[in-house]
Amino acid sequence: MNMRSPSTRSADQVLVNLTNLLPDLEALYTDVHAHPELSMQEMRTAGLAAERLRSAGFEVTTGVGNTGVVGLLRNGTGPTVMLRADMDALPVEEMTGLPYASKVKSKDRDGNTVPVMHACGHDMHVTWLAGASKLLAQARDAWSGTLMAVFQPAEETAEGARAMIDDGLFQRFPKPDVVLGQHVMVASAGDIGGRTGTITSAADSLQIRLFGRGAHGSMPQASIDPVVMAAATVMRLQTIVSRELSPNEAAVVTIGSLQAGTKENVIPDEAVIKLNVRSYDEGVRKRVLAAIDRIVNAECAASGAPKPPEITTLDSYPLGVNSEVASQRVADAFRAHFAAERVRHTGPTSASEDFGSFGAEWHVPAVFWFVGGTDPGTYAQAKAAGEVNKLPSNHSPFFAPVLHPTLETGVETMVVGALAWLGKDGAAAATGQAEARS
Ligand SMILES: [Zn+2]
Ligand SMILES: [Zn+2]
Repeated sequence: MNMRSPSTRSADQVLVNLTNLLPDLEALYTDVHAHPELSMQEMRTAGLAAERLRSAGFEVTTGVGNTGVVGLLRNGTGPTVMLRADMDALPVEEMTGLPYASKVKSKDRDGNTVPVMHACGHDMHVTWLAGASKLLAQARDAWSGTLMAVFQPAEETAEGARAMIDDGLFQRFPKPDVVLGQHVMVASAGDIGGRTGTITSAADSLQIRLFGRGAHGSMPQASIDPVVMAAATVMRLQTIVSRELSPNEAAVVTIGSLQAGTKENVIPDEAVIKLNVRSYDEGVRKRVLAAIDRIVNAECAASGAPKPPEITTLDSYPLGVNSEVASQRVADAFRAHFAAERVRHTGPTSASEDFGSFGAEWHVPAVFWFVGGTDPGTYAQAKAAGEVNKLPSNHSPFFAPVLHPTLETGVETMVVGALAWLGKDGAAAATGQAEARS
């Protein structure tokens, strides 16, 4: 049964202006793409976002968490919906060959000059949110409540959501009834993927310093060798996933860096390990992190280390969990608006996001979903050949979402998602659909 719900009528009223807005959004996208900025340096992008919100009639606050922008549009009584887009780019040299490809080089925080590219599609997210904000502002008769547009810095370094929260996001702005976010991904452009429950993995990066005692290479008895200590630690850490988790649980422990010593006949006095953990369940995450702590300390004790190891968190992304009731409400709204075959159920991704911090720490439901950005023909061909993994993915120097229908789809999903709460007959629509299902 294909019911046109009342919330869809609200969406139609808001989206009627989308076609006219597209050339402007295309210009914004190509401009932001050609001018990418590293994490916590998003001054220009934040300026563009703020300017657009202001001209659409939002109350705008800039500099929230360094470069973050918050726009509020109060439009009568009703729920508050927060829509979030991240703004930062990556130190990647663009190889797409697009006419609007980035040639930008910039200084990272260590002072190194690095190429910069929107290799994760956050330029698309900025454009989607600018578009949805504008359309909702243009059609205020179609909805009621408060719209809160949040442009977040530094997602790629897991700092941005934290910085906005630490800068008083929860105290300075109204508490939303729901937080919505989306990401462009490898999938047929215009397709939407979502799920209830875990949507993005938790990620924890640690640096571990192991202390030994340096000595001449010919006198091992005078040393406590941190190289042997580190080697034993690395091997033992690999038993966490294989020996401590059940076959039904999933986690990744990758030791991406192991450094010690300068010369073959000098036993150094310390070794440094850097590792990354991914997990899909808070219980598993806690157990893996506790096991790392236990093993590292025990290996140092086994070596007779002169002092305990120093374990530092480099970054930490929370588990992204879609609230059951809210994600069902978004899915119902998507199914009422889009053709059924475009709204797909997806598994949790091993990618991580700091979007989860907003809902988890504010104690409000959050929903995150994916919008495909790969040319549909290219995607279908790759799928038929079993070569989807060969398509340029997020963070690749070749990552280049096709403009259409990626651009309009992400604007539509944001509008339709927001209207599931703000639409004038949103509640009636939800009830009607619940009855239709029962
Ligand atoms: Zn990314
Ligand atoms: Zn991203």
